[in-house]
Amino acid sequence: PQLANQIAAGEVVERPASVVKELIENSIDAGASRIDVDIERGGHKRIRLRDNGKGIAKDELELALSRHATSKISNLDDLESILSLGFRGEALASISSVSRLTLTSRPREQSEAWQAHCEGREMQVKLNPAAHPDGTTIDVADLFYNTPARRKFLRTEKTEFQHIEDVFKRIALSHPSITLNLTHNDKPVRRFPAVAQDNRSRRIAAVVGKKFIDNAIYTQVDYEGITLEAWLGNEQVLRSSSDCQFSFVNGRGMRDKLILHAIRQAYESAWGVIEQPAFVVFLSVSPRDVDVNVHPAKHEVRFQQSRLVHDFICKSVLDALIDTQG
Ligand code: ADP
Ligand code: MG
Repeated sequence: PQLANQIAAGEVVERPASVVKELIENSIDAGASRIDVDIERGGHKRIRLRDNGKGIAKDELELALSRHATSKISNLDDLESILSLGFRGEALASISSVSRLTLTSRPREQSEAWQAHCEGREMQVKLNPAAHPDGTTIDVADLFYNTPARRKFLRTEKTEFQHIEDVFKRIALSHPSITLNLTHNDKPVRRFPAVAQDNRSRRIAAVVGKKFIDNAIYTQVDYEGITLEAWLGNEQVLRSSSDCQFSFVNGRGMRDKLILHAIRQAYESAWGVIEQPAFVVFLSVSPRDVDVNVHPAKHEVRFQQSRLVHDFICKSVLDALIDTQG
């Protein structure tokens, strides 16, 4: 199965940041309230994640590492309306086919922890007893050690870590009630203590900066089942560049062209040409009106009524910007 897994890995595992994203999403799916991510050398040497989620039972460890092991889809209707973050059932198998992966876990009801190690051509899984608190640790070492062509595409340690940080910030913004900690080469880089779900602005301040949130224009608009909640950079922080553009659709971070376009158009109409407005925007639509699986890495969406969504965002943002002027 190694080859098939490595082919799948080509889709799922583009770079260390994609591993981090898949692992964190699994922890969120498992109900974790705390996730610690430790990175070594831009993730190329090691990515280690610990969570306090529901854990994986001993006799399911091997299954978790095999392809299409997902327990998250039970029928087609589920597929259409799924809000659970991951559902393709190939992330762990893919990652383990291009790294040395160790999975250690203890569900609350299991008296001892077990560890599964997966490496080599046959993807043989070895199980050993281990010591571990409730929850799961996944250790991904030597990413792409057996796929030199992929390894060649890795950028510098600094660049790869920036991608990881970006993924981390996006997840932190969409999950304020989860405590998230990130270290790089043993140094704490990001610490996001849990905040109440209704205190999103506090998490935004932690992730994007207090200056942004203090000056941001806030708006919330509902229209025919679409909801927009937005923090919009005002003129003082407008030049803060594209690394402060965060959009989410139904809780997932998206780098969506349509959303970006709608927001820029609104800024342009309100205040003239603006290159890179800063914003944090949450959009909720009915899951049936949106296809999140356009790309396997899930950065893109396709709206059923894209024109409507575009114009709704544009108008809502424009109204908020003009209101502030007046
Ligand atoms: P998917 O998330 O699409 O189901 P993955 O390959 O990402 O597929 O994970 C395989 C399975 O392993 C999951 O369905 C889940 O049952 C289990 N799993 C993975 N990570 C965790 C975790 N951190 N805590 C609990 N279970 C996990
Ligand atoms: Mg997953």
